[in-house]
Amino acid sequence: MSLSGKTAVITGSTSGIGLGIARALAADGADVVINSFTDSEEDHGIAERIAGEFGVGARYISADMSKGEACRALIEKAGACDILVNNAGIQHVAAIDEFPVGKWDAIIAINMTSAFHTTAAALPLMRKSGWGRVINVASAHGLTASPYKSAYVTAKHGVVGMTKVVGLETAEEPITANAICPGYVHTPLVEAQIPDTMKKYNLSREDALRDVILQRQPSKQFATVEQIGGIAVFLCSSAADQITGTAISVDGGWTAL
Ligand code: NAD
Repeated sequence: MSLSGKTAVITGSTSGIGLGIARALAADGADVVINSFTDSEEDHGIAERIAGEFGVGARYISADMSKGEACRALIEKAGACDILVNNAGIQHVAAIDEFPVGKWDAIIAINMTSAFHTTAAALPLMRKSGWGRVINVASAHGLTASPYKSAYVTAKHGVVGMTKVVGLETAEEPITANAICPGYVHTPLVEAQIPDTMKKYNLSREDALRDVILQRQPSKQFATVEQIGGIAVFLCSSAADQITGTAISVDGGWTAL
C-alpha cells in the first residue's frame, strides 16, 4: 500500500482507461477522486464501489472538462491533489476541410486545454504537500498522426509538449510530469466497435481485430486498462523519481514503425 495518504484526481474516470487507472491507484492505497460531467447515480456508485473494494477514500466530483473554470474547481473541491491524472478525452473523425468547428473546439478543450487548467490548479497543492505526480494520458497519436483525426492528433501532440514543459518547470522539485501514450486499448467503447466492423467487412472477430482494428498495432493485441493502470502506479513509485517530461508508449510497437 505504497500510495496510502496520497490523493489522486483522475479526470474522465467513470469508464475505460480513467477508471482502470483509478482502480490501480486505489489498489495501491491512494484515495481517489472520480470525475465525469454527468453527475448520475451510477457515477457516484462507481466511487462507492472503489471505496468498498479497496478500503480507500473515494469521491465522485462532477466537472465538465471542456470548461476552464470547472477544471480548476475540480481540483479546488478535491482539496488535495498529490497525483493528477489528465485522462478525459473525446474523438471525432472527419477530413480537415469538413471538420465541424464545434467538434474541433471541444476536442482541443477537453483533450488538451483541460490539462493546462488542472495542472495549474494542482501544482500549488503538490508543492504544499511536498510531493506530486502529473500523469497525462496522451496517445500514440501524440507522437504520430493518422488522417481524419486533425483535432485529436493536434491535442495529443500538445499534451506531450505540455508534459515536457511541466517536467522542466518542476525538475528541481519532488514532482514529476509524464505522458502515457497508449495505442489501442481494450475499453467498452472499442469492444462495441467490433461487431460493426465484423459485419461491415464480413470478417470473423479474429480477422476484424487483426486486419482492421489493430491494423497499425504490430503486436496485434490490445493493451488493457489494467496495464495502463500499472504504468500509472509505476510512475508514482520511487523507481520513477527521475523519470520526468517523457512520453511512455504502450502501443505494441506502433510508434516503432
Ligand atoms: P472513454 O470514453 O471510455 O472514457 C472517457 C471518459 O472521459 C469518460 O469517463 C467520460 O465521461 C469522460 N469525459 C468525456 N468528456 C468529458 C468532459 N467534458 N468532462 C469530463 N469528463 C468527460 O474513453 P477511453 O478510451 O478510456 O479514453 C480515455 C483517454 O485515453 C482519452 O484521453 C483517450 O484519448 C485516451 N486514449 C484512448 C485509447 C483507446 O484505445 N481507448 C488509446 C489512446 C489514448
